[in-house]
Amino acid sequence: MIQFHNVSLAYQRDATALKDISLRIAKGEFVFLTGPSGAGKTTMLRLIYGALVPSRGQVLIDGQNVSRLTRSQLPFLRRTIGVVFQDFKLLQNRTVFENVAITLEVQGLGSRADIGKKVMHVLRQMGMENKVQLTPPRLSGGEQQRVALARALVNEPKILLADEPTGNLDDANKMQILNIFKEANIKGTTVVVATHDRRLIENAHYRPIRLHNGELADEGEAVDEQKQ
Ligand code: ADP
Repeated sequence: MIQFHNVSLAYQRDATALKDISLRIAKGEFVFLTGPSGAGKTTMLRLIYGALVPSRGQVLIDGQNVSRLTRSQLPFLRRTIGVVFQDFKLLQNRTVFENVAITLEVQGLGSRADIGKKVMHVLRQMGMENKVQLTPPRLSGGEQQRVALARALVNEPKILLADEPTGNLDDANKMQILNIFKEANIKGTTVVVATHDRRLIENAHYRPIRLHNGELADEGEAVDEQKQ
């Protein structure tokens, strides 16, 4: 599903954020992208959803070379990828419902009634059905995180990317978020979670891909696609 072939990324000429990364994440896999702050985790996620193009090498998503996509093709790739950003990026003056519905509206996916059904379904899964009319400033950190997850999952993406999704959450909220990831993965979504949260990694036995100073330090046991 996700392949990196000798990928390097330099934001500036003499500062390489990723160095010669080659790895493969199989369809339906769940991996943790780990490593200290500055290791290159966010940069890898940005390469996967096509927000950055590699300085060298290739990133393939479902067999497609991301850097060869044209401006008009890129939105089609993005539709298949749900992203949960470190700072949630929720619209502060829109309701919970509107924040989630927007994913489907911008993609022109379905009638108003269809969209309403899908949004309520995913918000119910997140336990947020009683807060649909509130705006993000009136929610706790854990609740905002669940809205961000609902927005990322509402169109059933092939790939879910999450950047430090449990950053400011307490243990109970962390485990709740982890369970949502697990459920999405069970339904077939390939999940990539960038985190340096040891508790999260230890509580779920998924493959840890470890980065250090922009290099691949350890990519764990690759999962055989045949067994997926
Ligand atoms: P992580 O997510 O593991 O904390 P990042 O991918 O954010 O790591 O950063 C990797 C390296 O790239 C760091 O040295 C960081 O300072 C640098 N970097 C990240 N974003 C930018 C940017 N927009 N411009 C320049 N350097 C950046």
